[in-house]
Amino acid sequence: MEQHVVIAGEYKDFYYVIRRKGMKNMRMRVNGKGEVIVSCSLRISLERIHAFVVKNIDWVISEREKLKKEGVLEERKFVTGEKYLYAGTDYMLVVLTGEKERVNINGNYLVLTVKAKDENNYERKRRLIDKWYKDSAAQLFAQRFEACVDKHRDLFPDKYPLVIKTMKSRWGYCMISKKTIALNFKLVYTDVKCLDYVIMHELCHLYYKNHDKAFYAFLEELLPGSKVLRKQLTSFYIRYSHI
Ligand SMILES: [Zn+2]
Repeated sequence: MEQHVVIAGEYKDFYYVIRRKGMKNMRMRVNGKGEVIVSCSLRISLERIHAFVVKNIDWVISEREKLKKEGVLEERKFVTGEKYLYAGTDYMLVVLTGEKERVNINGNYLVLTVKAKDENNYERKRRLIDKWYKDSAAQLFAQRFEACVDKHRDLFPDKYPLVIKTMKSRWGYCMISKKTIALNFKLVYTDVKCLDYVIMHELCHLYYKNHDKAFYAFLEELLPGSKVLRKQLTSFYIRYSHI
């Protein structure tokens, strides 16, 4: 990825350029870290990219403001008032003290109970929240996976082992010979419909290896509206790729 500096009056910033073969228009996005990323074709000149960034600086600033308001850009401190994303919904963290350590969802709140001595123990709180996410993902994914397979039992009559992993650049994959599906842990943050999309997508690979027309037609048949969900996942990734 190329990195360039942009200076416009008082404003100084960096932006990244990703060049893609066959891309027609220039596109710009601000990712979850607040970084500016421009994607364009292989041949477009740096002058044109630079002019494009300068022209859109106000938009970059407003996008970063939005991220800040959503709490996406802030570092986690595990204190009351922070927002935590789970299954496509934002929950406000409430830290309580009690006899027994516990994390649970209560209405719009994610309630973290720690022992009084750990009220300001960052490491302990982080570990409890991480474990909660991990356990919740295992439970949610297994439940959705069963529901998806059950809906199409005639097509998927076997046992299909499920693996959960944190992956950088894919939502899941299918080991066809082992009939095993792997899902990205980060799907715990997305809408459950997006999770279903990835599950169905990977299951369809048991019938169609490649992403060709037949594959997508089959997927659409099993999961109507799959195209919209795929787009939803992509825009989610752009915003939350860092978490
Ligand atoms: Zn695939």
